[in-house]
Amino acid sequence: MRIFGPNELLEDVVKKDLCIGCGACIYLCPYFRSYMGKTAMLFPCTLTEGRCWAYCPKTEVDLDDLSKRFFDRPYDGDPLGFHGSVKISRAGSKFGTGSFQAGGTVSALMSFALNKGYIDAAVLTDRDGILPVPRLVTDPDDVLRCSCSKYTASPTLSALNQAIKEGYNHIGVVATPCQGLAIAKMRSNPTRIDDFTDPVGLVVGLFCTWALDFRAFDAFISERIDVDKITKVNIPPPPAEIMEIYTTDGKQEIPLDEIRKLVPDTCSYCIDMTSEFSDISVGVLEGRPDMNTIIVRTKRGQDIVDEAEKEGFLVLDDIPEENLEHLMWAANNKKKRALIKAEEDGLINTNQEDKRSYLRLNPEALKNIVA
Ligand SMILES: Cc1cc2nc3c(=O)[nH]c(=O)nc-3n(C[C@H](O)[C@H](O)[C@H](O)COP(=O)(O)OP(=O)(O)OC[C@H]3O[C@@H](n4cnc5c(N)ncnc54)[C@H](O)[C@@H]3O)c2cc1C
Ligand code: SF4
Ligand code: SF4
Repeated sequence: MRIFGPNELLEDVVKKDLCIGCGACIYLCPYFRSYMGKTAMLFPCTLTEGRCWAYCPKTEVDLDDLSKRFFDRPYDGDPLGFHGSVKISRAGSKFGTGSFQAGGTVSALMSFALNKGYIDAAVLTDRDGILPVPRLVTDPDDVLRCSCSKYTASPTLSALNQAIKEGYNHIGVVATPCQGLAIAKMRSNPTRIDDFTDPVGLVVGLFCTWALDFRAFDAFISERIDVDKITKVNIPPPPAEIMEIYTTDGKQEIPLDEIRKLVPDTCSYCIDMTSEFSDISVGVLEGRPDMNTIIVRTKRGQDIVDEAEKEGFLVLDDIPEENLEHLMWAANNKKKRALIKAEEDGLINTNQEDKRSYLRLNPEALKNIVA
């Protein structure tokens, strides 16, 4: 596939408001930076081919190609993506307790992988007030500092680029689905770097229906709450329809109808709810705030989950049938809705070599998925 450069990235993604601020183009060079939730090019660059364009999760994402590379099969639109097992889980007693978003599965897995030396650094998302802050962690005891969801889009992958520059080569990343797509593109070495070796050792993906635009959320919430007092934000699963904001003074609830207005339009084109290009994906579990849903996709993921369970870092159980059915329904809805909208808006490239778009998918697969 033809690779383009920073000017096409600006034209196709940033200027069209498709940028989700994932950080994949940040720190690859001196030009792209993220500031308070926005990605900008500081100085003009004349490269005609760049890793910035090639890694972006909003440029020519070839689902078939990525699926064949990582899972050895064409992209078939399975609502949950290619996967082995789907279970429920929580952090085990060996990991201990802490402030987690739900069951603490993600923190337990990252801590376990660092402890065992399966990864040499972890790319996580910390916060400063409500600003999400990418963080590179090498001490398992520091994983907990980054626990809990920051519901704004985060330039987390800028820390991955920094980790690679610093020479880490078995890096673990906790990523939203769009960040996971960027990592998958990067690992496929699209710019054909001669001495390329895959620097990523483990991807733990998060489920995601949408994220908030940082600047919009900051303006909205600052009028209502002292952001320095926020200790945790939570969005309980349906039918709650609220965002809970915990502060040192107590809890406030905001109707989700008001919050959804702060979601950037680019999330409405996003086809992936469960981080399909990861080793292990983790989300919440309806009706059980102390547990997670966990999807294992790769042998690497399965080995780590099995060992973490055996050593008491993770507790696993079967997923109730109705939870699994609802998860598949929700993921399928998101995928179809996004594909239909992307097709209507001309953002799908059905294999015209000279066209640049958001997604690349063959017409037959597209027809089957949206049918
Ligand atoms: C923007 C967003 C939207 C989400 N939407 C859904 C949803 O629709 N349905 C669902 O089931 N689950 C959703 N989740 C996932 C859910 O909130 C929990 O993260 C997941 O269940 C793991 O819980 P845990 O207790 O294991 O996490 P913890 O052990 O508390 O760890 C949370 C991890 O998330 C990472 N993280 C936090 N914020 C971000 C961010 N903005 N970008 C990248 N990484 C981050 C941290 O580095 C930390 O490692 C969403 C998460 C985010 C960040
Ligand atoms: S790589 Fe990420 S931050 Fe950069 S333009 Fe694309 S979506 Fe935005
Ligand atoms: S909905 Fe998609 S694009 Fe938006 S933050 Fe989530 S994964 Fe990224």
